[in-house]
Amino acid sequence: MSRKGILIVVSGFSGSGKGTLMKELISRYGENYALSISATTREPREGEVHGKEYFFITKEEFEKKIAKEELIEYARYVENYYGTPRDYVEEQLDAGRDVILEIEIQGALKVKKAFPETLLLFVTPPTSSELKKRLIGRGTETMEIIESRMRRAVEEAEGMDKYDYLVVNDDLGHCVEEMHAIIRAEHCRSFRN
Ligand code: 5GP
Repeated sequence: MSRKGILIVVSGFSGSGKGTLMKELISRYGENYALSISATTREPREGEVHGKEYFFITKEEFEKKIAKEELIEYARYVENYYGTPRDYVEEQLDAGRDVILEIEIQGALKVKKAFPETLLLFVTPPTSSELKKRLIGRGTETMEIIESRMRRAVEEAEGMDKYDYLVVNDDLGHCVEEMHAIIRAEHCRSFRN
């Protein structure tokens, strides 16, 4: 029986509130989860601390890590490199903890390809649920058309449909409980036991 932790990827639009969500998840259930800290070549924002939000490194240092295969995945995002250090993730998974990677979609899909058992979660701001509510509310479309418009919106949102679960961040507390419940359920999946 496999007792290793689960690798969990959380992505979401900028402004979806995923950072706050992760902090709240860790504050409520920190004993279950380890949050991976990425390396990046971008400059720290005010208040960001090396080793806390990110490991801020130079492009040369980053490229050395790529060459030495020290990153599980990496991607370029708006002129900078971002990547997930391998050692921490493997140590934590081996210790049976679930590891959360808060990364963008290109990296997420690379992780899923390399580790198919990864759980992919996508956080959306409440506007996507608002879209559905509005489509239903105006009452001019059949449910079939509403569903295909929603599917189209999902496709347009850069591959959001490749994720295992979409979580709408309409209420912080509710959203945290929903994510925790999804992860608990994931532990019960037959292929993990
Ligand atoms: P920011 O510069 O706003 O902190 O992050 C920009 C984007 O990079 C966000 O979507 C964030 O989730 C993503 N990101 C952060 N760390 C990593 C990483 O290690 N790998 C990848 N692929 N994306 C990351």
